[in-house]
Amino acid sequence: MNQRVLSERARRVIPGGVNSGQRNVPGLGDLVIAQASGARFRDRDGREYVDYHAAFGPPLLGHNDPDVSAAVAEAGRTVDLCGVGVTEDEVELAEALTELVPSVEQVLLTSTGSEATFHALRVARAATGRRLVVKFQGCYHGWHDAVSLNVISAPDRVGGKDPISAGILPEVLDATLVLPFNSADAVRQAFAEHGADIAAVIVEPVPHNVGCLLPEQEFLRTLREECTRAGSVLVFDEVITGFRHHLGGWQAISGITPDLTTLGKAIANGYPVGALGGRADLMDLFSSRPGGPAFFAGTYNGHPAVVAAALATLRKLRSEPVHEHVFRLGERIRTGLAEVFSSLGVASLVTGYGSVFVEYFMDGPARTYDDLLRNDASMFIGYRRRLLDHGIFELPLNLKRSHVSYAHTDADVDHLLEAAALAAGAQLA
Ligand code: PMP
Repeated sequence: MNQRVLSERARRVIPGGVNSGQRNVPGLGDLVIAQASGARFRDRDGREYVDYHAAFGPPLLGHNDPDVSAAVAEAGRTVDLCGVGVTEDEVELAEALTELVPSVEQVLLTSTGSEATFHALRVARAATGRRLVVKFQGCYHGWHDAVSLNVISAPDRVGGKDPISAGILPEVLDATLVLPFNSADAVRQAFAEHGADIAAVIVEPVPHNVGCLLPEQEFLRTLREECTRAGSVLVFDEVITGFRHHLGGWQAISGITPDLTTLGKAIANGYPVGALGGRADLMDLFSSRPGGPAFFAGTYNGHPAVVAAALATLRKLRSEPVHEHVFRLGERIRTGLAEVFSSLGVASLVTGYGSVFVEYFMDGPARTYDDLLRNDASMFIGYRRRLLDHGIFELPLNLKRSHVSYAHTDADVDHLLEAAALAAGAQLA
């Protein structure tokens, strides 16, 4: 059945049809995915794309990595229950995560990153008896109300801007302070004014949901110092940074130790996983108490197929030069794109880190989310739509990052750079 017909069917039963919710990307048309393998996917009409969107980031090894698929199939034959007891594989996965992520002493699995950040904030509030959460412009931590203030500052509530976010409880928004990323001064001031009420500071150490902003070490150090002084819980949301760039996340690179860490995405190369880990005394609040079990639930937490996918992924990340490969290709892309745009005379800032890249069309550096507002959104979206015509899939939505995987090759990078010259040239014409 072709895409147009499938799209009609979808429109009747899925709100927005094939482009529902987060997939609502203007200009993408009737995209119905038929098959994905390695660095590529094919749509239902037989068009093939080299995929740099990578489903928002999980398949670091590439789509349907054979070792991961084999491990999932094997798990499907052996055990399919979770929720009571653990499997040997789950213990092994928890051991691996505690070994790899420096600050994680104990860990609990969830099915998504959003659940992990939800539990992190809840346990921080429980441990401190306080209510305020500090977060940063440009950081995304999932879909639940407590983190739903996304890129904006507190007075410009999300609520009311679309029919669904109007349903976010105002008292939850009132318990959130949103500060500019990379501003150590703003952090010091927030703690001077509200320190005794701050339960947690949650931060994406590298905000990857507005493209890619790199953190200044003084900013991260200030977060640690202020949280320690005030007795607030520092949460590093390493759902993306945890495994995409290095084993062990940004805390392994920066040497800054959070109290709690959230993980997800690339751990299981695309299978639905999240994890919350951290200091044993905080994590211990989730243990059973004389009055009964502490509230931590999720029917599918630790699902054997997901755990098998995660173990197979981590095995490969530890035994093969995955990060070396994606760093090298990522660097080739960042340097190559900057040269392409500069030879065309387009103002650009090609940024990113490791396996992530993003091409902003603007002058000057980017430290904060506000800086990124200088990006020429129509050039960005137009350029990426034209890449689709060359068989390259980067999401045509403003400020979205792109990813390289272990399955991408140097020939794929050559193709991307040639297509970039044609797409940017055509967009300027
Ligand atoms: N934290 C970060 C940093 C993320 O990027 C995301 C997802 N983009 C989440 C949390 C939420 O994870 P999930 O979509 O698995 O709920």
